[in-house]
Amino acid sequence: MLAETTVKTSGLAQGLIELGRYAATRGWCPANGGNFSARLDQAHIAISASGAEKGHMSAEDILTVNLQGQVIGSTRKPSDETLLHTALYQLDPSIGAVLHVHSVANTVLSLELDELVIAGYEMLKGIKGQPTHETSICLPIFNNSQDMKILAEAVAEQWEDFKNRYGFLVRGHGCYVWGANLPEARKHLDAYEFLFACELERLKI
Ligand SMILES: [Zn+2]
Repeated sequence: MLAETTVKTSGLAQGLIELGRYAATRGWCPANGGNFSARLDQAHIAISASGAEKGHMSAEDILTVNLQGQVIGSTRKPSDETLLHTALYQLDPSIGAVLHVHSVANTVLSLELDELVIAGYEMLKGIKGQPTHETSICLPIFNNSQDMKILAEAVAEQWEDFKNRYGFLVRGHGCYVWGANLPEARKHLDAYEFLFACELERLKI
């Protein structure tokens, strides 16, 4: 119960609720898709419940889950993709928040490309560790699966190659981004979704 007390008093629930509202407003969470989490401590995260309407979440929609994916203090079911979130927190103890959305741009790009190379944009500076537009970021695209263990294993195998890019795509599905905390993860989400939209427009030209 200690961890549940933490989610209610940490402000993280409110942060996740606001993030869901923001992402839904941007059109990134159609049909209740997407999921959002933040680290509570070394062994627990707060994560949105399965099926929660992301634009209208309340504190009851934010669940405490341990890194094995088990819910603590609620009968609600966590997001279907909880085990991919927990895998990321286990891969890197410095990750404080993980965000996943289904935008038109990230869905179409991930379906059509083998990998996504983004180069030359000023907005690349929105990603931590990128001081200039004179660079490129290559995001991996993993094949989609309904089995989160398969997806988590694929991510873990290549983790060292792309961990400092703070994001990846899942084919025909969406993107995952992360950061040291919710504001940093949200900044990465904003920057990447802008870049995805630009790339989609560029490919049309
Ligand atoms: Zn999804």
